[in-house]
Amino acid sequence: MPQNIVTEEKVIEEIKKAVAETLSGDASTIQPDNSLIKDLGAESLDFLDINYRLEQAFGIKMARHFILEHIEEMFGEGTAIDENGQLTEKAVQFLQARYGDAFPGFKANMDMDEVPSLFTVRTMAGGVMDILNTLPEKCTKCSSVAWKSDDGVKIICASCGEPAAYMNGDDLIKEWLTKIQDEKKIC
Ligand SMILES: [Zn+2]
Repeated sequence: MPQNIVTEEKVIEEIKKAVAETLSGDASTIQPDNSLIKDLGAESLDFLDINYRLEQAFGIKMARHFILEHIEEMFGEGTAIDENGQLTEKAVQFLQARYGDAFPGFKANMDMDEVPSLFTVRTMAGGVMDILNTLPEKCTKCSSVAWKSDDGVKIICASCGEPAAYMNGDDLIKEWLTKIQDEKKIC
């Protein structure tokens, strides 16, 4: 269910912190629209570290695989990325549905290596918010429906203190791909 306990602002703040700690930088100089790769100099391995810090902070499981990998897994090899390493029409349709307003620039035949550099602190925050919005109605331990957060980051049961059990990032992407395929008739 959509939660209103952790704000997007707070999520962005936590991401800046995680990025700064990972890259030994200064969180106060990071802007929400900075590209993690292009502007902040993050490399592939840094994402594992950043994700781990966010998982610890929010009590979530970030997606291990990017949306393009999930498309290939669900719809078959070559459905997202062609033999030249370029985005297919299908991949572009999904990416536009997912990130449309944020990146009008996705286009077929775009080199897949260009995609990760488009991602910013703010798009990463969107991913974290999506996971936080899978907050279950009830606590898995005591069935209370009251949630709270003492630090504005980790949501716990207001009755017994059990951390909220969210859907994991990969399952969330798979569920979304199935839903969008039906809605937008992408084939
Ligand atoms: Zn509880």
